[in-house]
Amino acid sequence: MSTSLKNELDLAAYWMPFTANRQFKAAPRLFSGASGVFYRTVDGRDVIDGSAGLWCVNAGHGRREITDAVAQQLHELDYAPSFQMGHPKAFEFASRLAKLAPAGLNRVFYTNSGSESVDTALKIALAYHRARGEGHRTRLIGRERGYHGVGFGGTSVGGMVNNRRAFGTLLAGVDHLPHTHNLEANAFSRGQPAWGAHLADALLDLIALHGADTIAAVIVEPVAGSTGVLVPPVGYLEALRAICDKHGILLIFDEVITGFGRLGQPFASQYFGVTPDMITTAKGITNGAVPMGAVFARDSIYEAFMKGPEQIIELFHGYTYSGHPIACAAGLATLDIYDREQLLTRANSIADAWADALHALRDLPNVIDIRNLGLVGAVELASRPGAPGARGYDALVAAFNSGLYFRTAGDVIALSPPLTITVEQIGQLADVLRKVLLGVK
Ligand code: PLP
Repeated sequence: MSTSLKNELDLAAYWMPFTANRQFKAAPRLFSGASGVFYRTVDGRDVIDGSAGLWCVNAGHGRREITDAVAQQLHELDYAPSFQMGHPKAFEFASRLAKLAPAGLNRVFYTNSGSESVDTALKIALAYHRARGEGHRTRLIGRERGYHGVGFGGTSVGGMVNNRRAFGTLLAGVDHLPHTHNLEANAFSRGQPAWGAHLADALLDLIALHGADTIAAVIVEPVAGSTGVLVPPVGYLEALRAICDKHGILLIFDEVITGFGRLGQPFASQYFGVTPDMITTAKGITNGAVPMGAVFARDSIYEAFMKGPEQIIELFHGYTYSGHPIACAAGLATLDIYDREQLLTRANSIADAWADALHALRDLPNVIDIRNLGLVGAVELASRPGAPGARGYDALVAAFNSGLYFRTAGDVIALSPPLTITVEQIGQLADVLRKVLLGVK
């Protein structure tokens, strides 16, 4: 950062999220612009966006169509109440979204973030069972190393220790499946690892322990992102689906990261051919330009609520900004771009180049695993003894200084560039990463 800006800019007031505040403020990394697959730093350097912001800018930065749609919407209707009132774009956008979703998941509940989508889906699951006279189904099951945002529901079903330990006992009645990450069995797998489908059977153990009729829902990310890109073993998601079906348990896929084209299909559930009962989304729904999320629910879930006197509110849940006109306008413009540029399937045509570029890094120092699927990838580095995360952080800083931005999860470099990235730009990204990995001790 330029010295003059550092002197001008007061960094004290902003308490930054998921950031080492003191470390950051001593040596800030600031973006001031973005276009295509590049960020621009305040001191005028171009930096490749290796993580689509926070896995959200799927159509690349600076999309004029979204800017224009938002500006026009602000002029036309800046806000409309979301309770007992509506506006046309909320309905139009929901219909367009439902057409993209797996067959049968045609009901869309709007939120403003991934965390809200997760908490919404968990609440719908509980209320759904109750509406059907199965109110005894109250347990929620997540997975170790899962990330489902930061609400109390999402934190409870999530499985990342640092996200949990400071926050007390969280929700009662939550269990976790084991995670599927196993370097001994699966290191350097290209695509889905072969080993690990049997880990879904841990759900049978929880059923044996608690009784299926106490369990409302299982929530997993089809590909876990924030915990360092964990690709599901072949057959694992299918096995979870079969167990949930057999025991009347709802299966929720958290597709906040995998939704909107990350794997070469609109949703990961279509990529894997496994249809959950609900899908949680956010991020790519508006290309990250306006905060928004949505929960997709099976028709049968929605219909279970549509009983009783018609003047009674069926689900006592929602947000002031559910279906915000600006977000709907941004979302509709985003879907137009996805459609016109066929971005939701684009990962298919570049996934091989992506996998080749990443796996070519396997012999670099400290690299202990490389993983990939669609346009997601990870390079896992060995942790320094007694200092987990330190090498990953050094890589992040070195990369930023060398013209590449990515997310890290401890010592895992997580990559998910905009879906617009070209094969040439993939090569550029990999070249910078190679230099960075050679330099980080
Ligand atoms: N669920 C998953 C799978 C995520 O990856 C994230 C964020 O990265 C969330 C939920 C939370 O989303 P948000 O930060 O928009 O609340």
